[in-house]
Amino acid sequence: GTPGGPRAREEKIVVTIRLRPLNKKEQSSKDHVAWECTDDHTIVYRPNPHDRAAQSTCFTFDKVFGPDCSTEAVYEDGVKTVALSALMGINATIFAYGQTSSGKTYTMRGITEKAVNDIYTHMMNTPERDFKIKISGLEIYNENVRDLLNSESGRNLKLLDDPEKGTVVEKLVEETAKDDQHLRHLIHICDAQRQVGETALNDTSSRSHQIIRLTIESTLRENSDCVRSYVASLNFVDLAGSERASQTNADGVRLREGCHINLSLMTLTTVIRKLSVGKRSGHIPYRDSKLTRILQHSLGGNARTAIICTLSPASSHVEQSRNTLFFATRAK
Ligand code: ADP
Ligand code: MG
Repeated sequence: GTPGGPRAREEKIVVTIRLRPLNKKEQSSKDHVAWECTDDHTIVYRPNPHDRAAQSTCFTFDKVFGPDCSTEAVYEDGVKTVALSALMGINATIFAYGQTSSGKTYTMRGITEKAVNDIYTHMMNTPERDFKIKISGLEIYNENVRDLLNSESGRNLKLLDDPEKGTVVEKLVEETAKDDQHLRHLIHICDAQRQVGETALNDTSSRSHQIIRLTIESTLRENSDCVRSYVASLNFVDLAGSERASQTNADGVRLREGCHINLSLMTLTTVIRKLSVGKRSGHIPYRDSKLTRILQHSLGGNARTAIICTLSPASSHVEQSRNTLFFATRAK
């Protein structure tokens, strides 16, 4: 639908697939490209790239982006509409889902940048309204919540139930952005803080979730009968590596030891699957993890959701790429 327009409750989650190019390491090893986008909707697995007739598997989606596609193209097609709905008072969440090193952070940073540009363009083109943008950033690691805008706040912030706002993170810093430059600066601080954790605790980014939340408020200026206010959250979520979603692979075989299951990621996949089924799905277990509690009001109901599923094309990652596509199939 169009931003601000009436939205059918049944509208599906926007699911996008992005296949990255083979990286240097994969190129120099014995890896080959096992996945190919044959058109805008189809991604094909070829066990043997030299034999196009060899048994291959096809997956189809609303939109598939191959290794030559830009982040801009990914953003423009579907994700943008979800992001901009937050300007009209509709909560929105954009996820990057995929195994470690598949391109989640790369994609989410580009998407955030483009959304910020569009938000400020919209504000300039809407002089009849007064806007205010606030930002907070947090990381969930091992079900502990850390403030990315306040490194002094410790690693285990409490979640509280507010009768009006729903779940809030106690003491989480929320800064008001003075302008777009300032907002970009604050986003950069969040990204940098997450990286600090990465070097201190080996492998954090594969295990942790990052949420950057913009709260966008606007009111119609005076001389208008209908002084309408809007307020909504826009969440950019860079998830933990999807290899943490399940202890079993697509064939039900237990993964190697040490691949600890991630409660927030597992609960999120259940919530998404139930939301995509719609009304018949029954109880949705938002309260089972920190991630889903924090995002509850920005998922389901009237909220809009986009999930970008990122994939490595390498033959050595086939199992995880298939798992990601299975998740994407259940989400749409
Ligand atoms: P993840 O966050 O899923 O672990 P990253 O975003 O860190 O993965 O990506 C892993 C590496 O691949 C990075 O060096 C990144 O720059 C590169 N990369 C990811 N996606 C793309 C892409 N679409 N095009 C070019 N390089 C990419
Ligand atoms: Mg990452």
